[in-house]
Amino acid sequence: MSYTVIARRWRPQKLDEVIGQRAVTQTLRNAMSSGRVAQAFVFAGPRGVGKTTTARILARMLNCANGPTADPCGTCDPCREIAEGRDMDVLEIDAATHTGIDNVREVIISGLAIVPVRDKYKIFIIDEVHQLSASSFNALLKSIEEPPPHVTFIMATTALDKIPETIASRSQVFEFKTISSRAIGDQLKKIAVADGITASDEAIALVARAAEGSMRDAETAFDQVLAFAGNTVGVEDVATVLGLVGRDLLFDVLTAVADENGAAAFELAGRAVEAGYDLRLLCRELARLVRDLLVLSIDETRFTDTDIAPEQDHERLKLLLPRFSREDLLRAFDVLARAESEIKGAAEPRYHLEMALLRWIHLRKLTPLSDLIEQLQGRSPAAAPPPRVAAAPPTHRQSAPAPPPFSAPSAAAPSVAASSSSATVARRVVRETSRPPIAPPRSTPPPPAVAPERSAAPPSQPAGAGGSVKDTYLEEIRKARGAFYGSVVAQAQRIEFESDRIVFRFTDAQKFQADQVWQNKDWLEKLALQVAGRRLAVAAESVRAETSARAATSPGASADQVKQEASLKAEALASPTVQALLGIFAADITDVTELKKKS
Ligand SMILES: [Zn+2]
Repeated sequence: MSYTVIARRWRPQKLDEVIGQRAVTQTLRNAMSSGRVAQAFVFAGPRGVGKTTTARILARMLNCANGPTADPCGTCDPCREIAEGRDMDVLEIDAATHTGIDNVREVIISGLAIVPVRDKYKIFIIDEVHQLSASSFNALLKSIEEPPPHVTFIMATTALDKIPETIASRSQVFEFKTISSRAIGDQLKKIAVADGITASDEAIALVARAAEGSMRDAETAFDQVLAFAGNTVGVEDVATVLGLVGRDLLFDVLTAVADENGAAAFELAGRAVEAGYDLRLLCRELARLVRDLLVLSIDETRFTDTDIAPEQDHERLKLLLPRFSREDLLRAFDVLARAESEIKGAAEPRYHLEMALLRWIHLRKLTPLSDLIEQLQGRSPAAAPPPRVAAAPPTHRQSAPAPPPFSAPSAAAPSVAASSSSATVARRVVRETSRPPIAPPRSTPPPPAVAPERSAAPPSQPAGAGGSVKDTYLEEIRKARGAFYGSVVAQAQRIEFESDRIVFRFTDAQKFQADQVWQNKDWLEKLALQVAGRRLAVAAESVRAETSARAATSPGASADQVKQEASLKAEALASPTVQALLGIFAADITDVTELKKKS
């Protein structure tokens, strides 16, 4: 007796048997029940998720002797012949092998005029339709635009974006999803029970996860395992046949890292090599486990989600969970992803795996930034609010008096909400202070409140005519409104005294400061009149124009470059993480480098 593979024996014959595509099957059922069935369909989605199967079921729904019906009988001639792929009126074409216009003409166009031999509809199922040539699509388009009433097109594709818009817009498009490992596992269990196979849950979960969302792959893999193991399947059988990494090894590696035991990590790497594992796969599986831990660290209720963690792993995951910080897991994910790509084409893949594990252990020893911030805040409660103003040195924040009423309430402060790019920005290089800044000379940090005699004038200002007026003016501001001085005036990149006006220059990221100047314009102008004895208009302007102008004259740096630098810097400054760093280390951004471009 010949063996029929699982995928064929268990091929769904009705809509309700299609796994994991409820949105599609429900819509098709409703359309059929209400008699609103399109004449052209596009079934899009990854391979092995049920597109062709659903196409055949739809053909049955249309052509069943009892049809059109949402529930084809499965026993009439059309139902049986469609399932076997030999119905005269249901033509299956694989566009991957028949891409030419001649085939489209021959098979489809010329067949259109002919009425169905026996069935109600002539149905064309075109697999991998995106492979058709442009001219074939054009030929097909005419048929789809005005199909004879007895014709239905069902086009399946793994690349919806390659289908011409003219075709897609004239078709009803269904997007098939990858199937969850849980749904795949459930189906495999059903098959095992029906076939009298004893398979452990762990073994089934391993097959399901390895299939990565494709039911067909899962069934094919299960066939392979059965051929090897017979009717009793254990997790080791699965790992051996599919070349998968056993769960024990994965958990052992994670434990070695949690123990920060480099020797054990080396030994496990050796064991993986001896077992003949694909080390890239090992990295990928480790990354998957890291991802599971990360998800669980954020939402423990996901323990019940078998897509995250098969039940048999729960105990081990629970033990490991408290041993890794989220930051650590995020770093581990990077390390493992990098190792996976390095191993590809490496002469000694084992070295890369070993180095990756050691790197991970080493990185664990770094204190998480959040802890550092917490510690610092705990030590100096005066600095409680995290630095909002990037450029403000911490000495100032600690000594500044409470903001006077005119100072913007925090609600009015610019909301530096974490942007989606903050993570990437945070990864850019922030070099610590000590080095003098390259770009526009910054004003000196404001003096602490306890040392009012110190002059606050930015040293960068040329001490020319009006220099002393300026010094006096700034000193008056500081005396009258210390907090305003510290948080706004001292943050200016430049303060320029012109013949009839005073210009505070800020970077684009310093919108808050610029706004504050405008809001206090009247007061600032009144004070200027008192100090200078003449009317001076106060304004807040961007330093950007100035920087570009300077760049134009400086050799080697184009205006674009400078502009880009300024925008990178502004982006970095807008990141809450960078702001926190600047505050904690009294650091200064001297240069922003995009890491991607370097590598
Ligand atoms: Zn039927």
